Parts: sequence; structure tokens; C-alpha cells
Amino acid sequence: MKTLFLSFAPPETWRNPEQTKKLEGEAWRALRLKIVQRDNYTCSYCGYKSEKYQIVDHIDGNPENNANKNLQVICQLCNLIKHAGQGCAVQGIVDLYEESKHTQNEVISLTRKLRDEGKSDYEIIKQLGLKRKVEFKMDGDYLKKLIGFITSRQTEENDGMYNGWLTYHNRIVKLSQNQKLKVN
Ligand SMILES: [Zn+2]
Repeated sequence: MKTLFLSFAPPETWRNPEQTKKLEGEAWRALRLKIVQRDNYTCSYCGYKSEKYQIVDHIDGNPENNANKNLQVICQLCNLIKHAGQGCAVQGIVDLYEESKHTQNEVISLTRKLRDEGKSDYEIIKQLGLKRKVEFKMDGDYLKKLIGFITSRQTEENDGMYNGWLTYHNRIVKLSQNQKLKVN
């Protein structure tokens, strides 16, 4: 697994409309499929596997650099940490802490697991030992030392991808819980 840490893309590197259009085209769709298959639908940072809603991410942040080795699969949660400006400022669902008992990678995996078990944000924060909440700043060195926690708050921005994934994931969790009930 790769090491995950909070970072943000400076606004001047955000995709322009032409680049966005390219990323919606047929060629990108084919390349995207090739990469998710190569990586077995598995997030490079937390190991979460999903047939749907995984993101194919440009490692160097340049949407024009479609070399195979510059592309990786990243899940919706890790994506909010890697693009913390999105998670914290735009969507407003990621909180930042100075202290944790766990690494950022572990915080993502444990948050997902504990939330699937029905734990509240308060219980998860306590279990992860997250302390001293701080503000978001557009400062890479500052962010790198912090731990991001993805809350269960609703996104302020209407992000179809994240909400789509959440609905899909929750449905699968519920199905597997029902399956277990039947077996026991
Ligand atoms: Zn992940």
C-alpha cells in the first residue's frame, strides 16, 4: 500500500473545461477501464475494492499525463484526503486533527469498518484517538502533518460521484449483513 497523506491541488492546476471534456470522452473511458482492471478495482492506499465508483487518479496531478505509471486507482474516501481542498473546503465533510493513534491509511480503513458496523462519528473519533481539531489551510506542509477524518455529514456540494458511491456501498453492506443473519 502507498502512504496516504493530506494534500491539496492548487487552484491553478484544477482541470480546465477542455481537460474535463477529455476525461469524459470515449478514449478516457477505455483507459480508465484498463487501469481499474490492472489494479483489480482496488484502492492503492487502503485496499478497498469496489466494482463501481473507484477513481482513476493522475499521480502527478497533471490530467494530461496519461502514462500508465502515472495512473492509479483510488477510492472515494482516500480521494477526499488526497484532494483535501475538495473534502474540507468544497464539500465540507472532512475534519482535520493534529493527533491520532493511527496512520492516515489506517484511519480510512477503520472509519469505513466502524461506520459499517453502525458506530457514530463520536464513537469512531474516540476509538481512533483523534484529538485537537484544526482548520483547513491551503498549505501542503501544514496539511501533511495532520490526520483527516471523513465525517458522516452530508456533502454541501452536490457531488454525484461521492453520494453515488455511498448509496452503492451501504447497499452492499446491508446485503452482506442480511446474508450473515440468514447463515447464523
Ligand atoms: Zn482508499
